[in-house]
Amino acid sequence: MVRRARFFIQCKEMLELSGCDTAGFDTLCVFQDILNDKYPLTKPDEEIPGDIAEKITDIIKKRCEGYPLQYVLGEWDFWKYTFRVGEGVLIPRPDTETLIENILDICRKNKLQSPKILDLCSGSGCIAITLDKEIPQSEVWAVEKYDSAFEYLEENIRLNNSEVRAVKADVLSPETARKFKDFDIIASNPPYLTAEEMQDLQKEVRAEPETALYGGDDGLDFYREITPVWRNSLKTGGYISYEIGMNQHNSVAEILKSNNFININFTEDTGGIIRIVTAEKQEENKNG
Ligand code: GLN
Repeated sequence: MVRRARFFIQCKEMLELSGCDTAGFDTLCVFQDILNDKYPLTKPDEEIPGDIAEKITDIIKKRCEGYPLQYVLGEWDFWKYTFRVGEGVLIPRPDTETLIENILDICRKNKLQSPKILDLCSGSGCIAITLDKEIPQSEVWAVEKYDSAFEYLEENIRLNNSEVRAVKADVLSPETARKFKDFDIIASNPPYLTAEEMQDLQKEVRAEPETALYGGDDGLDFYREITPVWRNSLKTGGYISYEIGMNQHNSVAEILKSNNFININFTEDTGGIIRIVTAEKQEENKNG
């Protein structure tokens, strides 16, 4: 048996020694999770049974090796919702909340009360499910290719009581795209890291699926491929909204322009990095 307060300090120190710079926060999250107590430190003298302490130690050790906290906990919050996560699926990031804000804005400005929205490379489903919940009359579809991610997508739809329609398919296949028609909005956070960035990933990010991160040599493969293939699934005047990596905005804007999209807009994330590129599909007869 060990007292909570003493054990907390031990775990936090272990994490600090491993170079983790959020040791206190991470330890608190693990205590909350394993002790099933939102305020574990309000009972500093309570004893932790040996087997539970052992379980916590094992988790802290994994965390010391750079295993992501979100995978350890098995779930993570995004916007107002909670998503199950684990190996094989990208962890929802705060940057992606800018994509949500952006799309909610498009719906407000264009008075789209029951938009048809398509989310490509859905992963955990954080984008599709959040939009579905935030726009109650929307019809949201989510496309994801990989088995492991697709299982999380389906589980998250269920857990959030969402009505997102999940489709397991490859977004790079024109046959898949042809089945989707008349959408108001396409959203996507595709893999966008460059070959160089992949060489220099944080330990935690290395535990995430490469298929959700790597966007080819210059990181732009998916924008190049998705844009022409999926533009036909959008109504004229419909919008495409992409999350992008650092300094990719001009290249992605060029890709959109050359596919006959207009009104290209950039939005910064909370860190001041241009994170979202949005564009409108122009009528077919204008400028081919
Ligand atoms: N934002 C992620 C990262 O930088 C990358 C996600 C993606 O490629 N879509 O770790």
